[in-house]
Amino acid sequence: MKKLEKSQLLIAVLSVVLLSLVLQLALNHKGEIKSVFSENEENNYYPALMAPRRTVKPLAEGERICYLTFDDGPSENTEKILDILAKYDIKATFFVIGEALTEDRKATVERAIEEGHAIGMHANVHVYEKLYANLDSFLNDYETLYEKLKEDYGIETALFRFPGGSVCTCLNGQGKTYLHEMEKRGFSCFDWNVSGEDSVGSPTVSSIQKNVLKKGLDCRRAIVLLHDSGSAAKTVEALPEIIEQFKEEGFEFQSLENAESYVFPASRE
Ligand SMILES: [Zn+2]
Repeated sequence: MKKLEKSQLLIAVLSVVLLSLVLQLALNHKGEIKSVFSENEENNYYPALMAPRRTVKPLAEGERICYLTFDDGPSENTEKILDILAKYDIKATFFVIGEALTEDRKATVERAIEEGHAIGMHANVHVYEKLYANLDSFLNDYETLYEKLKEDYGIETALFRFPGGSVCTCLNGQGKTYLHEMEKRGFSCFDWNVSGEDSVGSPTVSSIQKNVLKKGLDCRRAIVLLHDSGSAAKTVEALPEIIEQFKEEGFEFQSLENAESYVFPASRE
């Protein structure tokens, strides 16, 4: 009787060991299948989202450049901003929202392109929860905007700016992953080192000018965040004085077309 119990116990132990071995093998196998699948998947993962090549020119000795950038347009204010830029004969960059690229704004965007300004991608739909829900929704959104710009405006842009910036808490800690995905597709990310704070709180013409000039005039390379959304009337008013001041300090104005990418240092850590 005792002997039998022992052998039963041995069989039970052996069965458990055997079962766990089989399970482990099955899991490993599943893992292999999964990794092969994701490799294949990656090759076909939003293939249309591929940036064109662009030339990057580093800053020359003693050169000081102001890159005016406008997010969240186009809107009726974009046209007014284009008038001011034309008056000073300077170039800037517009990070557009796909949903704002309506039929009645088409001429405005075409004018911006024709007058030598750069167009960058901001988002097709500027809603953090939707855009940043996961990598899939992020790439899907950007691919939609990229194709829209290509098909409706005949441009392929390599420039983009994350809504909220690359360190935004709205990215749910996925900023580095999204940045990597875009960079490996050849896109250049542009955060900013100067902000007009013109889309937060209740900005005034003078608060926008102060915010930009206080920091901007100390930079060699000022990447200035402003907005050209429908609520950016104060930005339009503030703009001429901002341009005058930069000019007086010897700055040149350029679009980001040939600029070196600028990402908040924390996003690279
Ligand atoms: Zn924005």
